[in-house]
Amino acid sequence: MGGCVSSTFLNGLNGAPTLVFGAGVTGAPTIEFLKSQGSVVHIVDEKVEEPNVLRSLQGLNLQEMYCAVVSPGWHTDHPLIEEARHNGVKVVSEIDLAWRVKLETAPDQRWLALTGTNGKTTTVQMTEAMLRESGIDATACGNVGFTAIEAVTQTSSEILILELSSFQLEWSNEAHFETVAILNIAEDHIDWHKSFENYAAAKFRITENAKCIILNRHDDEIVRRAQSIGNLIGNRLIWFSLDTPAPHQIGLVENLIVDRAFISEEAEALFELTDITPAVPHNVLNAMAAAGLARSVGAASDSIAQALKKFTLDHHRLEVVAEKDGITWIDDSKATNPHAAVAALQSHMSSIWIAGGLAKGASMEELVEKCKNRIKVAILIGKDAPIIEAAMRKHAPDIQIASIDPGLAGIEVMRRAVALAHMQARSGDVVLLAPACASMDQFKNYAERGELFAQAVKEKIGE
Ligand code: ADP
Repeated sequence: MGGCVSSTFLNGLNGAPTLVFGAGVTGAPTIEFLKSQGSVVHIVDEKVEEPNVLRSLQGLNLQEMYCAVVSPGWHTDHPLIEEARHNGVKVVSEIDLAWRVKLETAPDQRWLALTGTNGKTTTVQMTEAMLRESGIDATACGNVGFTAIEAVTQTSSEILILELSSFQLEWSNEAHFETVAILNIAEDHIDWHKSFENYAAAKFRITENAKCIILNRHDDEIVRRAQSIGNLIGNRLIWFSLDTPAPHQIGLVENLIVDRAFISEEAEALFELTDITPAVPHNVLNAMAAAGLARSVGAASDSIAQALKKFTLDHHRLEVVAEKDGITWIDDSKATNPHAAVAALQSHMSSIWIAGGLAKGASMEELVEKCKNRIKVAILIGKDAPIIEAAMRKHAPDIQIASIDPGLAGIEVMRRAVALAHMQARSGDVVLLAPACASMDQFKNYAERGELFAQAVKEKIGE
């Protein structure tokens, strides 16, 4: 690939053949962008049957290929990727492509980035809100709203805040970040990464090209991995936690979130716990990480507080879908792994818990051990319900379990789960959909799972 980061990269696209691996959500804007630059784009996706999508590289002149852009989700050792590389094609991620475009078209734009197993979308949205409230033109992108290439080409934002998944991090090498944050690292996508070690290492790659790094001091995996970078970057390593902050930290003093990192004085109060809704521990930590990112590029504390007061969580994240007869029905369908379900369960004293689906290789034992005192009844759905059931029989044999026929799909699953929950629930109870699993065995996606839960609840309680 000619001049990687020189001003000729964009010019070189004109008339040149390129390859795009993946015709999905990230692929589409990448293809559109490459075409807009005059490139002749060849799309490869084994899983898509469309006339313009290739299923192999046969017949392509790979030696002439200007570059290949890969969508997240493709394995680095996928046979088609290896074939392209073997034939001299430079394969880059959509993030690195966007970075090259930024270097040429928006050299002064600064990039922030955030990763974690859970809370990424919420936290980049909070960061965007804080910066905009401060009068800074900022856009969140990555897995939210815009893809990176769209944000670079379709906005003139001073700051981009990138939400990066482990897949994107595994693939990306070139982008440089002003500040990055890691929220947490817990078991997820083990089937894709093959081991927790690989997954955690991919997440930590976000620290490699960062001037400042913001980390969660309550997360053991992060603390352990940070030991190897601590000495290298000194004061530019900022910790956040729910404890009283030391210098270079963001923390909690009574009900105040206090910044001792991005200040010229001793300390500055940023916001109060009551500014955050809901002010449950994991969401307070998200707000702290967001505040750190925003502070690092100049957001003012009063704007941060103001932005949080107006902020509401997106759908399917601890979303109250109904309240009747003292029973609160909550949709946290976005809890697609055990770590998120732990956060949801620990946000309530006692829940009738609806869980299950596809576990993606994750163990449910730690979840049950940590949360057994918060589960009144478990209603299990989906293919991997037996994994949760086994963990419960081992660690919490006294909790009642009900299982829904895994052969059902869609609204029927939720009608039955909600009917069972309704029979069990008493005034003061929470019925919590926090599945700890992916949804695709019985639903289109997590959003549909949450919507059908809400629909079934409304049918049942007549609202
Ligand atoms: P992501 O983009 O990482 O999937 P989301 O903000 O969409 O993050 O939240 C995903 C799920 O994780 C939701 O169920 C949410 O309630 C839960 N969650 C949000 N923040 C955290 C956190 N800091 N720790 C654990 N779970 C969280």
